[in-house]
Amino acid sequence: MAGEEKQTLTPKEIIHQKFGVKAIYRIEEVHVSSNECLYRCHLQLPEFSVVSNVFKRKKDSEQSAAELALEKLGILSQDDDDITVDEAWNDIVERIKYIFSDEFLSADHPLGGHLRAALQRDGERCGSLPVSVIATFDAKINSRCKVIDPSVDSDPILLMSYVMKAAAKLPDYIVVSPHVDSLRRKKPYPPAIIKALASHVKSIKVEAVHIQCTVGGEEVVKPVTLDISSGRYYLDIIAEKLGLKDGNQVMISRTIGKTSSGYECRVYAAMPKLKSFDNSWKAREKRPINESSHLEKSRNAKASFVCGLDIHGDAIVASVGYPWRICCGMSPNGIYKLSREAIIAAQLPFSFTTKSTWRGPFPREILCMFCRQQQLAEPIFTLSTAPVIPMSCILRSYQKLKDSESDDSKYQYVSKGKEEIPESGTGYRCEVKILSKSQDLVLDCSSKKFYEKENHAIQNASLDALSWLSRLFDEGDVDPLQPCYTSEHLDMVFQQRILMKEAVPRGHFRNRDERNEYEDQIRIQSITKGSLVIICYSVYLDVDADFSSDGKSKKELIESNEEIEFEVGNGSMNPHLESVVTQLAVGQYARFLTDAPAEDLFVTAATGTQRDRSLLSDIAGFEYCVRLLGVKGPTEKRIEADFFKPSLSKQRLEYVVKHIKESSASTLVDFGCGSGSLLASLLYHPTSLQTIAGVDILQKGLARAAKRLHSKLNKGACNLKSIILYEGSILKFDSRLHDIDIGTCLEVIEHMEEDQACQFGKTVLSLFRPKLLIVSTPNIEYNKNFHKSAPPNHLKNRSMSQLPKFRNQDHKFEWTRKQFKQWASKLAKRHNYSVYFSGVGESGKADPGFASQIAVFRRKSLSNVVEKVSEGSMQPYKVIWEWSRGNGDKKD
Ligand code: SAH
Ligand code: MG
Repeated sequence: MAGEEKQTLTPKEIIHQKFGVKAIYRIEEVHVSSNECLYRCHLQLPEFSVVSNVFKRKKDSEQSAAELALEKLGILSQDDDDITVDEAWNDIVERIKYIFSDEFLSADHPLGGHLRAALQRDGERCGSLPVSVIATFDAKINSRCKVIDPSVDSDPILLMSYVMKAAAKLPDYIVVSPHVDSLRRKKPYPPAIIKALASHVKSIKVEAVHIQCTVGGEEVVKPVTLDISSGRYYLDIIAEKLGLKDGNQVMISRTIGKTSSGYECRVYAAMPKLKSFDNSWKAREKRPINESSHLEKSRNAKASFVCGLDIHGDAIVASVGYPWRICCGMSPNGIYKLSREAIIAAQLPFSFTTKSTWRGPFPREILCMFCRQQQLAEPIFTLSTAPVIPMSCILRSYQKLKDSESDDSKYQYVSKGKEEIPESGTGYRCEVKILSKSQDLVLDCSSKKFYEKENHAIQNASLDALSWLSRLFDEGDVDPLQPCYTSEHLDMVFQQRILMKEAVPRGHFRNRDERNEYEDQIRIQSITKGSLVIICYSVYLDVDADFSSDGKSKKELIESNEEIEFEVGNGSMNPHLESVVTQLAVGQYARFLTDAPAEDLFVTAATGTQRDRSLLSDIAGFEYCVRLLGVKGPTEKRIEADFFKPSLSKQRLEYVVKHIKESSASTLVDFGCGSGSLLASLLYHPTSLQTIAGVDILQKGLARAAKRLHSKLNKGACNLKSIILYEGSILKFDSRLHDIDIGTCLEVIEHMEEDQACQFGKTVLSLFRPKLLIVSTPNIEYNKNFHKSAPPNHLKNRSMSQLPKFRNQDHKFEWTRKQFKQWASKLAKRHNYSVYFSGVGESGKADPGFASQIAVFRRKSLSNVVEKVSEGSMQPYKVIWEWSRGNGDKKD
């Protein structure tokens, strides 16, 4: 990756990564004169706040506040890469000196709290700070140690040895106690400071989880309350629970997840024992670990899994001082769950549909977060475009199409080998590469699927990578040692390096069987894929009488949400919930029980009160209560693409092409051509057409149409002689388009008021007078197939979200079959046309008819071409783009 620009994060981005929504920025206007206003930013973080200087731009004040906060936290925003090892050592020494200064004692730094608490420790431990604490909680020291050796991340002992070594360079200032792994200031703190601080130490109770090793091998997971009363240092309390002498012997893992409030959750366990000899540990960089001591305590598989370090003996998982949430922040699925604050209900979706229906951070963002958490390099995205299909290929498959009428061969030209190319023939696909910090390939995932939009390609590729990683973490059904993994749609190469060294326990939050069962259920649901459902739910935990401490069965609330939105059918909701919810009517309520999730570590609590704590091995099952508050139907675009194969829009185009072929027409006008999908598809279908034109009122669509046509023409397709795009309203007549063979008007009339639709009909049939006119519009009767109707007056007051009336917000109306027939028949009669009705999207015979209804008007007799409009008399349309064979294209 030589020459690759390394991305640096702005201070604000770093703050966002660390604190998310818990970082609150407030901008204050500072009026310096009557016409000049400057800005000052207040940044509130969970533990402290900072105020920036004044700036001319709001943005600058925010960055400055973020920078100040980072300084306070000891985090540097600039790249640590330029620092030499010597500089790193100096920085560590300086930082240790600063940590033990008078001023730091009252600092808002996390370590400040430790120091203040350590001063309450009794006896010789008074004021001494465990080295593990310094190494873990000071971001600056941590980052400098990484400069010396990046492997400190996975080796807390090495990390600690660096801190001890640096502290030893301050003999006049710091007392290093190698036997107990702690540092203390030589000179006592001024008594006044200590006195002032004493009152600040709070008594708190922390809900934590104890993972105990048993003789049998299977770990027992139990809740434990850490009662941190004033005057005691919490690490000493954890040590007590772990059966260790004091807090200095506690090893602290790196963060294994974040609580919902943004706080860090860690694993605490016994420090690996050192060899009993001690000949100047200072001389060694790495202290040898007594191998045999490991045998004394068995390996704690669950704890090791959770923190990615080898843990021996009992462990405690806690987020000290803060409300509990969950420690699933390691897997992509966990990151997503946390981001939605719905650990049980939400799941990482398996497909990205549209930006507007996606909830939570976008897949790309999640992948970046995941990489940062796993100490991997930022993912690299490479976009490529679809190979343009050569004309010869198209003609060949067209030939085939003619030869065999079999349905399967029909779309051959759009799928070359395994590659899926979008209808338009161009598209993007994206490859994601994940590298370790040392640039080794960890995962290379390239989708075979092409997407029309760049963003879709990127998001879907990210999601593919995330789904795969999630399976590795949550289900363990991916063999991480297998170097190459391929599936239908994906080319994946996975090399296990930094990720889990041990086989990952099975069945964390999602398991395969559940997924399969759920896919079956999708077929019987009545709320369709692509809809957004709004639900409120609660999940209770049933603790079996046999297991509960007092012999009674208990029900504990573990998660609830008053209002949350999910997209149906993309896997974003717990499958049990989804299968129930999609069978409900708006306002209905359901209660159901499920088995407890897999027996693995499952720790969660809702609001941080003691009652909300819940667990683990004693769970009999979950009880869900859910109410469907509302449904928002899927958008028209999705309906068209997802409910029909081929898509509804494609079926319309094929319908039109069929009529063109039957008619041997040479001129066509597409009224309301939009972005030119019909015109563009005519380039692929050799017909008798010579001249085609598109008219639309909106510049934007026309510009897209021009671009689309231009790129296709360049590849030398089609038999056409000329193509013109006009800007103008189809309610007005333009004499240049008089007496055409075919007029088309697909899905346009519903975008006008009803009286305008009538006017359009009149203008077309009386003035443009095409021999054939094909008009399509949605059949509103079909809509009930897209969403389930609301129930009678149940919970009216809560029906905050009603079903949309129409498929698209821009529709002014959608007609029943009867309304459409009335409109068309009246027009046909008046202007001497015949009309018949048809449609696309399912059979159309039975109720509710076709999804898209179509009227085909045919001019009755040529002699009836009455109104002879003289050329040039009326030309309200403006030429936007024009192409003719031999002359290329011209833009206006
Ligand atoms: N026929 C296209 C686009 C349908 S969307 C297709 O099938 O894909 C409807 C289009 O009608 C929009 O592009 C809109 O700009 C256009 N439209 C609406 N009112 C119009 C009017 N009065 N004159 C011209 N175009 C109009
Ligand atoms: Mg429409």
